[in-house]
Amino acid sequence: MEDVAKQTPEGTESDTSRHFLRQWIEEDLAAGKNDGTVVTRFPPEPNGWIHIGHAKAVWVDFGMARLFGGRCHLRMDDTNPSKESEAFVEQLKRDITWLGYRWDAFFYACDRFEEMWAIAEELIRRGQAYVCELSQEEWKAYRGVPTKPGTPSPWRDRPPEESLALFREMRAGAFPEGSRCLRAKIDMASPNIHFRDPVIYRIVDLPHYRTGDAWHCYPMYDFAHPIEDALEGVTHSMCTLEFEVHRPLYDWVVDRLAEQGRLVVRGGKTIRPQQREFARLNLTYTVMSKRLLRQLVEEGRVDGWDDPRMPTVAGMRRRGYTAAAIRDLCERTGISKYKSLTDLALLEWCVRDDLNRIATRRMAVLNPLKLVIDNLPAETTLVAHAQNNPEDPAAGTRDIRAGRELWIERDDFMENPPKKFFRVTPGNEVRLRGLCLFTCTHVVKDAEGRVVEVHGTYDPAATGGNPADGRKIRGTIHWVDASTAQTAEVRLYDRLFALEDPMACPSGNFLDALNPDSMKVVTAYVEPTLAEALPGEHYQFERVGYFTPDVHASRPGAPVFNRTVTLKDSFKIKA
Ligand code: ATP
Ligand code: MG
Repeated sequence: MEDVAKQTPEGTESDTSRHFLRQWIEEDLAAGKNDGTVVTRFPPEPNGWIHIGHAKAVWVDFGMARLFGGRCHLRMDDTNPSKESEAFVEQLKRDITWLGYRWDAFFYACDRFEEMWAIAEELIRRGQAYVCELSQEEWKAYRGVPTKPGTPSPWRDRPPEESLALFREMRAGAFPEGSRCLRAKIDMASPNIHFRDPVIYRIVDLPHYRTGDAWHCYPMYDFAHPIEDALEGVTHSMCTLEFEVHRPLYDWVVDRLAEQGRLVVRGGKTIRPQQREFARLNLTYTVMSKRLLRQLVEEGRVDGWDDPRMPTVAGMRRRGYTAAAIRDLCERTGISKYKSLTDLALLEWCVRDDLNRIATRRMAVLNPLKLVIDNLPAETTLVAHAQNNPEDPAAGTRDIRAGRELWIERDDFMENPPKKFFRVTPGNEVRLRGLCLFTCTHVVKDAEGRVVEVHGTYDPAATGGNPADGRKIRGTIHWVDASTAQTAEVRLYDRLFALEDPMACPSGNFLDALNPDSMKVVTAYVEPTLAEALPGEHYQFERVGYFTPDVHASRPGAPVFNRTVTLKDSFKIKA
């Protein structure tokens, strides 16, 4: 992506214009427009699951309404029957609710098909629209390029009665797709290509998920959207930058609605919706288009729309991201007029920041090695008194019992360590977190020479791992008691794509940018209490990362854990 300023946590280029949408609304309120009301809308098309880019728009649309004590509508922009479904509608509602927002009203755009039709017929009667019979290629050629005026369609001046009759036949299914369309009669010489008699209705011979076979022709976005906004009494219609060039057409349609006396009147004031545009959220190592996400799902590259590696809201939830973290990312990336690319690491930073506050601490060993405390008698147990969340005293404490055999991470042991390796190594004393001090005396190896057991002794005088003489212990490692440990499947996720911009993959196919190591499955030993862990809960496996039980794979008493995010990253953020 050239001409894109990369947005890192060190500096968000959006700061200067951060509040331009806010200023716009404040100015309207100060000018007494719209009877002092603020009504916004979030208008997804129910043709897929919403992703983090949509979450940004949700944050803007609902957030602005909330900020000004206004209302936000949730509207299904379902004017294109090809891939829409009620299941997507239901999922959208779930995801928006989970993000923390409540809509003040809910609409289906298709419920206004009759009214849109009536508006279009009125345009025809007023000589502002006509049925055109150019093929799509001809139509594009006639439209021309911005630097030269276009050529009028030979059908431009056909009598309104003729257009009206044809338009009704289009509706009834008399003509094949592409053979005719309804065009607004605006200005074939306009430097704005969208003004050159844009298509406002086209023939589509597909059943619609709600209106069935009732229609054979459907309104175009540029026509339907301002009508939906206007008829709902929306005051501030915010969308992404690619619609900026469409704005004059939006205003043109609103003007026609005013002429037809169809604008909503509130408190004696006519409500005239206005559109403003902000930059999309783009993330590194991610694709964000429902079309591409659908391809990943349909080709089985991922485990459904809510695969924990997907940038969908449901995927992020399943992975263990929190709604608060997603809203925090929206806030930190701000509202801007400039295209930008946000580092995925910033989102992960937001996730860690929130999980650090709320996650329950537990110990789990992902790559186990047996440790034996030789001087602890067989029937004896030690007790670690541990905080459930040091960031939140209200989370309480728990006692963890351990006998002489423990599991530790294989990485926490080295037979021949380099300097500054302060963990388990022959002759070195380490703290087994909250439990005791342990000094490794010898190891047991298998036939291949691989270390299979680490042996040593503990200091009975150092209760809870605190030495009586105050001597310095440099390493602290986590552990799980071997006799009571539970085993659990743990899914270690990494980014779905190996390239920062998957669309820039040299082969030209974004699928070639998929990260072959985006999921690794291991069997871990975990604290016994984790057997009761439930989807929706957040855990920090101490020194390892943040984890959450998978909503589909977990069984009662046998959770399967998804790694939400590792504990640390080299990534730094300024306070
Ligand atoms: P996609 O190509 O992913 O399907 P879309 O824009 O076609 O995206 P819609 O369902 O029409 O999907 O989008 C609903 C709203 O979400 C629109 O207002 C759109 O501008 C906004 N939106 C979509 N992607 C982003 C993004 N990456 N950042 C901010 N807003 C977005
Ligand atoms: Mg769309």
